[in-house]
Amino acid sequence: METATHALHTSSEPSYNLWDEIVGEARAEKRTYLLEPECKRLLEELNIQTTGYEVARTAQEAVAISENIGYPVVLKIVSEEVVHKSDSGGVRLNLPDAASVRSASIDMLEAFKDVNIKGISVQTMAKPGTEVIIGVTRDPIFGPVLMFGLGGIFVEVMKDVTFRILPIDEQEIDTMIQEIKGYPLLRGYRGHSVDLDSLKTLLHKISRLVMEHPQIRELDLNPVICYPDGYVVVDARIFVDSKVSSLPAAQKRTDFHDFFYPKSIALIGASDTKGKLGYNVFNNLVNHHCKARLYPINPKCDVIQGVKAYKSLTEIEDSIDVAIVLVPASATPAAVEECCRKGAKHIVIESAGFAELGEEGRRAQEQIKGVLKKYGCRALGPNCAGVINTHHNMVQSIGIVKELGKGNIGLIAQAGVYAAGILWGLRHIMDFGIVATIGNKLDINETDILHHLGNDDNIDVICMYLEDISSGRRFVEVAKEVTRKKPTIILKSGRTDAGKKAVMSHTASLAGDDTINDIAFRQSGIIRARNNDHMFDLARAFAKQPIPANNGVLVITYTGSLGVAATDTLYLNGMRLGELEPELKTRLREILPGYVQSLNPVDYSFTMNAAELRKTIEIGVDSADIGSFIVVCQTEILDTFTSELQQIDYKGKPIMTCVPCKEFAMDAVVRLEKLGFPVYSNPEMAAEALSVMYRYGTTKEAQFSAVQQKKAG
Ligand code: ADP
Ligand code: MG
Repeated sequence: METATHALHTSSEPSYNLWDEIVGEARAEKRTYLLEPECKRLLEELNIQTTGYEVARTAQEAVAISENIGYPVVLKIVSEEVVHKSDSGGVRLNLPDAASVRSASIDMLEAFKDVNIKGISVQTMAKPGTEVIIGVTRDPIFGPVLMFGLGGIFVEVMKDVTFRILPIDEQEIDTMIQEIKGYPLLRGYRGHSVDLDSLKTLLHKISRLVMEHPQIRELDLNPVICYPDGYVVVDARIFVDSKVSSLPAAQKRTDFHDFFYPKSIALIGASDTKGKLGYNVFNNLVNHHCKARLYPINPKCDVIQGVKAYKSLTEIEDSIDVAIVLVPASATPAAVEECCRKGAKHIVIESAGFAELGEEGRRAQEQIKGVLKKYGCRALGPNCAGVINTHHNMVQSIGIVKELGKGNIGLIAQAGVYAAGILWGLRHIMDFGIVATIGNKLDINETDILHHLGNDDNIDVICMYLEDISSGRRFVEVAKEVTRKKPTIILKSGRTDAGKKAVMSHTASLAGDDTINDIAFRQSGIIRARNNDHMFDLARAFAKQPIPANNGVLVITYTGSLGVAATDTLYLNGMRLGELEPELKTRLREILPGYVQSLNPVDYSFTMNAAELRKTIEIGVDSADIGSFIVVCQTEILDTFTSELQQIDYKGKPIMTCVPCKEFAMDAVVRLEKLGFPVYSNPEMAAEALSVMYRYGTTKEAQFSAVQQKKAG
């Protein structure tokens, strides 16, 4: 490892002159494809070993070069028209002497006489070894992405490759190498092994080359042959962009405190007429007793829902932290400009009818963007349903929202339904802190909000529903920071092409390629949810229970089958059944009915009552090997368990409950949830929640310990 680190830091700087020269030449010839010898010259300049890059124009020259570099040699055709050389007979391998080189050269020159060729590349024949592939492609959302995998048939048939969004550090290069299925082949089998340190150095140099040259659109080293000591790049191609697409500059980070905790809110488009959206939004602000001073604006009203109304913003003397705009699309640009002129710090544009409807709407959005830029004002939306902050009693939703508890979950949603309809149901079993709907994101986007939630002390867990990601690189950068402190769960829709179409017509956005999404989320430490239920199931676990300190679980069940199902899922996800210490086993046997054999899962076979359950859990609490609990409760008598469960001192160990068919015992379920016990209708989900939490705890240092202490009481 030390040698690798040393090598990484002493790697030579890329030569800008050579780069400019080669790219300049390609450009002059209107090529976007850098030929193999050109690529290899560039690589050699970075101290990357290749099989060589000399080019012969005649058979004589080919022989002369061969004599110089030594046999056996390889000949390859050099032409911008021949990208895949061996497919068109442009590669001659293992030529042992001058005679074979001469005749092969003559053959090749004849065979390619109608093709615009630069000549024949004459290079050393590399010895056999383990072939790998290194590639780079540029994702429209996330920028340059590095690919690594085993070469040859492994990449073609097995697709055994892995990706990372660049830049990456040494540790990530390590995991990249280790996570391909063929890793054992690299690490060594039957005496063969690969010099992993030099391979890491190569990956590092390639990622640097690509980061330093934004013109590189695609790069392919295929194959690189690896040996026990070093490697050699056998084939290389690079595609450059004709125009340089520089990486987007890191956007300045705005402080969004006053956006989420405003002292004053104006609502342009407030209404006193039931059924209008402007009525709903103002009703929510008033009924939840928003902590901001409220200014409803409507030229036709003096009083709205009991609050003094204003004809226009100019009549208000107070300064405005948040101005909500909810007027027809055609009137929105003027309303936004009025807010800016008034000096409103932030604008929430809840009006719809913009990019989600087509070209005209997109133009209107651009117009608004221009206004915001002119005044330096930040805006959310349009086509959003506003922001909720229960810790500020602030509800800006377009749909009427009933009482909300003050919770520790943050939610970023690219759809309004999360701030009303879905929330209407979820509020019974989980409490949110901040819900921000982002709509068409003409200015403020998911990353801005994520950054704020990462720093907001009221938020411990973050959920995101996204249809597209605005600025992938910044998103990854911020998410990496946030997930170190707070578990972050994402539901990303638009995975399939059909889904993408649905997304386009919905919020006027294109979804990125899903493999890259997966990589981006994994690299950022984000947990990816399968669907809404899954996202909120995981969020409830994180929000209500502490992280398990070890992977030993005590499963307590009233019926065997559900205990088995929980156990299977635990083992499939890196968890295990914990082992009670001998004296604890004795203690447990004393309370169990005689016929119960297994001590984990503890299967009470329809006789479990609250007192026994409590004693069983307390035995688990005393065991060093038990880090968490799954309890399968009998739905018919769920009521009888709540108060005992509440009284147990869990000493910081999490507990998940499984209540089969829970939807038919919702009163008791809601009571349990309100007491802080996540309830799942299937044991697999209870087990999965524990596994996900445990994994999160092992990958993130102790940086979220404040949350843990709070929950452990
Ligand atoms: P292309 O990918 O354009 O068809 P390559 O340069 O990759 O052309 O050559 C095709 C294959 O020939 C390589 O995958 C490798 O197996 C073999 N090969 C090419 N050059 C060499 C070399 N210098 N030494 C050993 N094998 C080579
Ligand atoms: Mg190749």
